[in-house]
Amino acid sequence: MLTPEEIETYRQAGKIAAEIRERVRNIIKPGLKLLELAEAVENMTFEKGAKPAFPCNVSVNDIAAHYSPPVNDTTIIKEKDLVKLDLGVHIRGCIADTAVSVGVDNSHQALIKAAEDALEAAIKIIKPNIPTNRIGEAIETTIKKFGFSPIGDLTGHAMARYNLHSGITIPNVKTPFGDLLKVGDVIAIEPFATNSVGKIVENNYAYIYSFLRERPVRLQESKKILQVIKEKYGALPFAERWLTKEVQGTKLRIALKLLLNSGVIRAYPILREKNRGLVSQAEHTVIITETGCEVITR
Ligand code: MN
Ligand code: MN
Repeated sequence: MLTPEEIETYRQAGKIAAEIRERVRNIIKPGLKLLELAEAVENMTFEKGAKPAFPCNVSVNDIAAHYSPPVNDTTIIKEKDLVKLDLGVHIRGCIADTAVSVGVDNSHQALIKAAEDALEAAIKIIKPNIPTNRIGEAIETTIKKFGFSPIGDLTGHAMARYNLHSGITIPNVKTPFGDLLKVGDVIAIEPFATNSVGKIVENNYAYIYSFLRERPVRLQESKKILQVIKEKYGALPFAERWLTKEVQGTKLRIALKLLLNSGVIRAYPILREKNRGLVSQAEHTVIITETGCEVITR
């Protein structure tokens, strides 16, 4: 259960996340660097007195998720790009996770609406004791009505304080079984729609990491950044570019690689649609109430 203070904190985090999402979606245009977008989101978060719950994701076209621009990324938005802006805000560990899809030059409107309508269909039926597979069914049905495919390999998730993925998942397709939601659960619902098969493959690259467990590491730079990671981010995801004050360039790359190989941190590889179909996403964070749910990221 959540305390009244926690509920209020979630609402604050949600309000900030929604404000940032709406402001930044409107500046997405050809020629803009993905890195500028991500940094704008993260800087605004700090300016509003909150913290990023994870590095801002700016995943374009067939990239479904987990693309957070790396250090010195020069990738720019192009005409007709389908941009997914996925951001997280936390206040004292209470996380709001939200995403929007933007079709540059008003492109891809049907695909974007499929994900948005699926999200609304899910929100409409959420209430205590609903099994999560019924939510998946509502999402799948809505997306298929548009003639698109839901991405079953990706799911929504329950959240707890300082914990972005705390157990229960919310499927984007009808599954045989489901968990029951209960009052006070904090849930991120995130339908993904595609004009292709709806399967996901992992890229070789990862620009997002999180702390996993303590293990001895010898390299001085690894020790140094590990200290910072634990202090600043705990188990929440972080980006390499968030550590450039501590260690720079190749040394930072190597220090992270060593932590990864030692099992101290884990990586979140970039996820793309298997057949390089276009992918849209919509996401809100909700709190389950006695009668339904409260959307905190409207
Ligand atoms: Mn998200
Ligand atoms: Mn999420």
